[in-house]
Amino acid sequence: MNLEQAKLFAEQILNQMNVAASTALNVPIGVSNRHIHLSREDMDILFGQGSELTRLKAVKQPGQFAAKELVTLKGKKGEIKNVRVLGPLRKETQVEVSVADNYVLGIKAPICMSGELDNAEPLEIIGPCGKVYKEHCAIVAWRHIHIPPELAKQHNLVDGQSVAVQVNGIRGGLMQNVIVRVAQASVLEMHVDIEEANAYGLANDQLVRIVS
Ligand SMILES: [Zn+2]
Repeated sequence: MNLEQAKLFAEQILNQMNVAASTALNVPIGVSNRHIHLSREDMDILFGQGSELTRLKAVKQPGQFAAKELVTLKGKKGEIKNVRVLGPLRKETQVEVSVADNYVLGIKAPICMSGELDNAEPLEIIGPCGKVYKEHCAIVAWRHIHIPPELAKQHNLVDGQSVAVQVNGIRGGLMQNVIVRVAQASVLEMHVDIEEANAYGLANDQLVRIVS
């Protein structure tokens, strides 16, 4: 190899390293327990006409919060009490459960993205003032990364993209099929449910690395 070839070779390697550096990104984990988002209509039935959610504590994503209000979920087989409502109110009621919760409730909630309720499973939702049966409400949330647009651009990530994430530690491994969600009002955070967190030994704010 002559000097010119060596220079060219070195440049190519440096370019590849730059590409790798631009996509590598450490993301803090947020672990989600089972919870419910309520519509105005269902809030009225469960907690009384015109009732409002009571803010318990903020969650990391801007504007969202854990409310003091709790409901009971009832499926064909069993029920789960003290399920927290997450605010603010939404257009559609949506219940996010874990795979183990599916067995307790006797449903088969599919793994899908928030808002994709076409194949969601039925549950009865019981509050202090009433109850409501929802034919399509229960899902297991697909693991995902929230990221604001500027940061996504810097790291060549686009909305809806599927990436792999490296988890370190005693139960570490490669977590595939993590969906990127780009939105203006968001902060960098990867959401997993409690079972995924336990399987990979993950805790809140632990850093994981996007590797593809
Ligand atoms: Zn999320």
